[in-house]
Amino acid sequence: MALIVQKYGGSSVADAERIRNVARRIIATKEKGNDVAVVVSAMGDTTDELISLAHQITDEPDERELDVLLSTGEIVSSTLLAMALNSMGYEAVSLSGSQAGIRTDSAYTRARILAVESQRIVKELEGDKIVIVAGFQGITPDMDIATLGRGGSDTTAVALAASLGAQICEVYTDVEGIYTADPRLVPEARKLEEIGYDEMLELASYGSRVIHSRAVELGELYNIPILVASSFTERPGTMIHGGVSMEVRNKVRGIAHDLDIAKVTILGVPDRPGIATQIFEPLARENVSIDTIVQNASVERVTDLTFTVAKNNLPRAMRVVELVAQAIGARECVANSKLGKVSIVGTGMQNAPGYAARMFRTLYEQGINIELITTSEIRITCIIDEARVPDAVVALHRAFELEKEEEQ
Ligand code: ASP
Ligand code: MG
Repeated sequence: MALIVQKYGGSSVADAERIRNVARRIIATKEKGNDVAVVVSAMGDTTDELISLAHQITDEPDERELDVLLSTGEIVSSTLLAMALNSMGYEAVSLSGSQAGIRTDSAYTRARILAVESQRIVKELEGDKIVIVAGFQGITPDMDIATLGRGGSDTTAVALAASLGAQICEVYTDVEGIYTADPRLVPEARKLEEIGYDEMLELASYGSRVIHSRAVELGELYNIPILVASSFTERPGTMIHGGVSMEVRNKVRGIAHDLDIAKVTILGVPDRPGIATQIFEPLARENVSIDTIVQNASVERVTDLTFTVAKNNLPRAMRVVELVAQAIGARECVANSKLGKVSIVGTGMQNAPGYAARMFRTLYEQGINIELITTSEIRITCIIDEARVPDAVVALHRAFELEKEEEQ
């Protein structure tokens, strides 16, 4: 008998009828002779609503309390789903993250899973029950509840699949899979049948919001195939796995974009050992997570240093950096919060020249100015004016002919 882990996102369990629909899908999987463990997100926009409620009480909610509050969203959906299954004649049991043995570190609101002690789940599965686990949460060494960061239920699901030795982790959402670009921007975007972990990780980290990047990372680490599909249709989704052919004609697999980019530049930075530490240590202490960093070649021992952050981190980053700039004798700090980024991703671009040139030419032909460029072995990212991101995505999709079927 196979063991399957399924995860249902917030929109898939947004109301009673959708919860019943999910229950029917779980039953169909069970009826095929599988053991099923299910992870759920909170119903619809519950998590956003709980966050906003906390902010109506105080500007800076205590993170321990906030995590307990947020964890209730997934408790609600898991219990309702178990009730739906029971009412349809199937034995099901809901478990909170802590009951399910999800052990995390103590970093409230962004905790990492340290271990999954799955004895309880295994016991329930052995009793032929369907197990419903509240996603996005776990328990710290001090027995406090911690959440895994927004979108964290995907990570719960893959961690569970790894620890239970599941055959597959199926992630059900409101889109039909992974597309060559966001179909809301590019109507001719194509659904991929499959994609490699490494490519998916780049797409997820650079703006594709279909699956959490940490879930993909875990999938790769434990070699768990992840299916991304819609809970609203029976159409095939996208399989994320390790055995994808690299030698495909269309060597860009997908385009990701992200509108949440702000840039800080420190001008006239003295170029001497220790300066980068003096700038980035205080930022780390203030919990500002930095994305891209670029330091210019120095002229007469003075240089400029640029980095990017998420837009909501900009005020905090500027506060820190202005103090540091004074301390190290830099000239001034300037910010730009109206940026976005667009990335092309594909393992095929490894060792194949010409991708960067084609990307830059495409943007140039659209009259789009590139502010910063970063690359990995399988990704090229350009940071550009946020208003031009949609045009850039459409033009790049066309330039790399992503609407065409891949030929193996
Ligand atoms: N409910 C949480 C969120 O909205 C976790 C999740 O949906 O994965 O971020
Ligand atoms: Mg959600």
